Amino acid sequence: MTFSVTILGSSSAIPTPTRFPSAHVLNVHERLFLVDCAEGTQMQLRRFHIRMNRINHIFITHLHGDHVLGLFGLISTFNLLGRKQPLHLFAPKELESVLNFNVGVFTDKLSFPVIFHPVDPNMSQLVFEDRHVSVTSLPLRHKVPTVGYLFKETPSLPNIRKDCIQQYSLGLADIVKIKNGADYIAPDGKIIPNAELTFHARLPRSFAYCSDTLYSERLVGLIRGVDLLYHEATFLDADVDLARQTGHSTALQAATAAVGAHVGKLVIGHFSSRYKNISQHLQEARNIFPETYAAEDGQVYAIPEKFG
Ligand SMILES: [Zn+2]
Ligand SMILES: [Zn+2]
Repeated sequence: MTFSVTILGSSSAIPTPTRFPSAHVLNVHERLFLVDCAEGTQMQLRRFHIRMNRINHIFITHLHGDHVLGLFGLISTFNLLGRKQPLHLFAPKELESVLNFNVGVFTDKLSFPVIFHPVDPNMSQLVFEDRHVSVTSLPLRHKVPTVGYLFKETPSLPNIRKDCIQQYSLGLADIVKIKNGADYIAPDGKIIPNAELTFHARLPRSFAYCSDTLYSERLVGLIRGVDLLYHEATFLDADVDLARQTGHSTALQAATAAVGAHVGKLVIGHFSSRYKNISQHLQEARNIFPETYAAEDGQVYAIPEKFG
């Protein structure tokens, strides 16, 4: 069961020859969730052989061009391809009028419905849930209303040991109850504890996307224990004043968030084009959080299945 993130764009506001601005694809059990949609996103989807018609949900963090300017082109392409299935769009409410204007200018009539879900940037709340994944918004601290997103795999039910099914002649009704946590009460009244009957519950995997933002203690509390954290690291700590002025984080601050939240792995990105390479970002973050990786366009970060 796949749970992976593909980096489509790791630059900040200005693209470079090797880095597009922000866009990422999360694959949960072969269902694709696009997170941010900067200029060039549809080219990156083509380049990395990601089937764009499998994207039914797009999550936008905020209305800065380096996170949203590719959305209108992508919707136009969906229309040209004759898409029929609905597209669900999650974003701060300000996007809706911008979206309607652009769709109105560039297309006659869309061949598919776009369902807009406004997300409140001031609170953390469940914004989407199905049987594979839940998505919770994360309030971020930036120059305009901005939300991050926490994706959590839906917990799976445990399996029942085959020898127990035979030994106790378990029927379907018993199996459903046991899978949902019940003990088994045998005909003679003996109680068989659930833990003796079940095994290998798959632990839910999680991914938090936090860009763009200042360092935030509140955020650290909301992303505690995630398996994979993508946190912007636009600047080096030597430029912390610039980071503060522009509503961004340094690599050191991203790593500090990772340490505080006890995450499994940190991927830093959204690098300013002012830096020729990002080796210092990586070093700065790894000094306090060794499990740090620097995002590169096209990279895939897969989280293996975990069992309890
Ligand atoms: Zn940005
Ligand atoms: Zn921004």
